[in-house]
Amino acid sequence: MVETRLIDGKAFAETMRARLKDEVAAFVNETGVTPGLAVVLVGEDPASAVYVRNKGKQTLEAGMASIEHKLPADTAQDDVLALVRALNADDAVHGILVQLPLPAHIDAQAVLATIDPAKDVDGFHVVNAGRLAVGLDALVPCTPLGCVMLLRDTLGSLAGLEAVVVGRSNIVGKPLAQLLLREDCTVTIAHSRTRDLPGVCRRADILIGAVGRPEMIRGDWIKPGATVIDVGINRVAGADGKGRLVGDVAFAEAQGIAGAITPVPGGVGPMTIACLLANTLTAARRQVG
Ligand code: NDP
Repeated sequence: MVETRLIDGKAFAETMRARLKDEVAAFVNETGVTPGLAVVLVGEDPASAVYVRNKGKQTLEAGMASIEHKLPADTAQDDVLALVRALNADDAVHGILVQLPLPAHIDAQAVLATIDPAKDVDGFHVVNAGRLAVGLDALVPCTPLGCVMLLRDTLGSLAGLEAVVVGRSNIVGKPLAQLLLREDCTVTIAHSRTRDLPGVCRRADILIGAVGRPEMIRGDWIKPGATVIDVGINRVAGADGKGRLVGDVAFAEAQGIAGAITPVPGGVGPMTIACLLANTLTAARRQVG
């Protein structure tokens, strides 16, 4: 029986945000420029509204400017593109984030492609995805970046470790696999068509769940001592009838098997905004020179 360590993403993200606040203050002092993050929200999706509110609050707390554009759900795609172009041209804006998902009548790829890659703090533009893939400096997607920070804090060097990423989305799975390759892991990307998923997972020294299926990854899929990063955020009905959040990993079953695991909530989630703020400062530094 292994003693399973909890990876406290909430505490890590708090420390990171405190450090960032000092770095932002030093940057403002040196350049006279306040880094600005513009967030575009189209429509009324309640989860997105909560994310955007938290992002705005934490941006201000870090000493940066928060610029929010809330557009009605029926906004025409051309109007969203025109707003993004205006933000590209605005010197007070160093980072642009368009909250996903967008309403069905808007082509998300067209919107993401319109963001200036230098201001693409979500790292979703093909230029940043391509730069990451070929090993050039890039603005890297926030959630995968947060996962790798937690892994390095937990394990030190990741070189030579077997990493299995379950999920191949452009936002999490694929960029995370690229980052783990950059850390010299041996990387497997698994997905809905993978054969013998439990067997593939059991190979992993580092096992990542980025699927969006509550507790799909069972305890006996985990190699004893493996480090488990649970990206999934799934709302399920609790025993009291109220909703509660669970990850993609059966957290209770992982106890005594995994060497370390992130909880949901309080694991990867808080790292995403901390990394977004870090990316905004990086983007501001590059733009101000
Ligand atoms: P997507 O729905 O875009 O991708 C899910 C991936 O999981 C797909 O690649 C899919 O495979 C794979 N998958 C689905 N079912 C299975 C299965 N039965 N077996 C193996 N693989 C499967 O999700 P995202 O990547 O956007 O998000 C994943 C999870 O992470 C969600 O719970 C989301 O809420 C959470 N999330 C958390 C964030 C945070 O902590 N801040 C940020 C972003 C996401 P295929 O490609 O074959 O369909």
